[in-house]
Amino acid sequence: MFKKILIANRGEIALRVIWACKELGIKTVAVYSEADRLSLHRRFADEDVCIGPAPSNQSYLNIPSIISAAEITGAEAIHPGYGFLSENAHFIEVAQSCKLQFIGPETHAIRTMGNKAMARDTMNAAGVPILPGSDGPISDVTAAKKLADEIGYPVIVKASSGGGGRGMRVVNKADELVDAVNLARSEAEIAFGDSDVYIEKYLTNPRHIEIQVLADHFGHVIHLGERECSIQRRHQKIIEEAPSPVITEEMRQKMGLAAVEAARAVNYRGAGTVEFLYNEDGTFYFMEMNTRIQVEHGITELVTGLDLVKWQIRIAAGEKLSIQQSDVVMTGHAVECRLNAEHPETFRPSPGLIEHFHLPGGPGVRVDSAAYAGYRVPPNYDSMIGKLMTHGADRAEAVSRMKRALGLTVIEGIDTNISLHTRIMDDPFFLKGDMSTRFMEQFFARQS
Ligand code: ADP
Repeated sequence: MFKKILIANRGEIALRVIWACKELGIKTVAVYSEADRLSLHRRFADEDVCIGPAPSNQSYLNIPSIISAAEITGAEAIHPGYGFLSENAHFIEVAQSCKLQFIGPETHAIRTMGNKAMARDTMNAAGVPILPGSDGPISDVTAAKKLADEIGYPVIVKASSGGGGRGMRVVNKADELVDAVNLARSEAEIAFGDSDVYIEKYLTNPRHIEIQVLADHFGHVIHLGERECSIQRRHQKIIEEAPSPVITEEMRQKMGLAAVEAARAVNYRGAGTVEFLYNEDGTFYFMEMNTRIQVEHGITELVTGLDLVKWQIRIAAGEKLSIQQSDVVMTGHAVECRLNAEHPETFRPSPGLIEHFHLPGGPGVRVDSAAYAGYRVPPNYDSMIGKLMTHGADRAEAVSRMKRALGLTVIEGIDTNISLHTRIMDDPFFLKGDMSTRFMEQFFARQS
């Protein structure tokens, strides 16, 4: 096992990795930017190194600074968390050339899955269902038009290198296609430095269902069931739950098997997530694979009792995954609300000083957060300041615990989306488990 791990991240996920390391008896090194001098990940790690000024590209994305921090402190491995450098194949190569173990998959898996067009083709070859669409990036608009006519509108134009809900454009009619492709191309070039786009069928009312997988160095791959992530705003998740209210055990095994095949196709190693779009008629299609730990991993931990971050570390250290598929059992139901420092109606980010702060507790409540009273949320990073998770014997209990927990959460001095979560927890469609990726759009329409 490693003796010391550097955590190349900040906020709640950096703390989450520190907790896993403490339980495994591993020393931790925090890296922090000048904006994060007073952060908890710095306080709770065994050692800390300042890696640069506030802007991410000068600190949390600054590869030479992070590698030097690992070398100076004698860390043997790097945990990248999510975001920042977690899916950057170049970073892994640099780390490996400096004899540092990256806690995550091989670069081949990251490169294949990081390019959505390439991922689609690889999944198709592996027999994982994909939506009708282009084979690889589209070469010219005439070919794109012909293809869109064949698969039928609406279609979605997506940037091959897109991510974070950006670089997508829905096209409803043939005469909008050429403009959409050209715009998507130039937007993708600016945002991702890659103008490749591809087309696939746009589903009008799907659910976002994703499967958690774990794989070791010895070809052993298992799945840990699904998460329902349909509640999104601008393609970004807000509330997740496990299991999904509509997935039967039979469907879980079917989708689980597809996810395991997806992971095998790229020789996956570590924790990963295969995202699918799911139709009410039971058809599902590969959307993408996230080759890292995800924000919403905690709800899978609550229902399976497995510690995903510890397993990531153990697998990276070369341990065998000792869990068999038949050992994985989902018990009860878990819900997660992402707490964001933003206005609950306008969604304007709200960085600044947290004056009063109280976190809920009691049966079935888990909070992953790096915020505290007197903490100043910096304007430089993501607005998520924590995750509220509840676990209950069934969905109704998990939801009622979430309502209680939201009511007992005090964050004053900045705006947060707590009141929005409370309203969703009371929504009749949410309570019935009746949702699709258009949930928020329809929810706002119901409220007005
Ligand atoms: P990102 O990598 O930016 O998160 P994804 O490919 O995971 O992008 O898609 C994010 C969200 O966009 C999905 O959860 C879904 O709501 C929507 N989406 C993507 N592709 C389609 C599609 N073909 N049809 C309908 N919705 C889609």
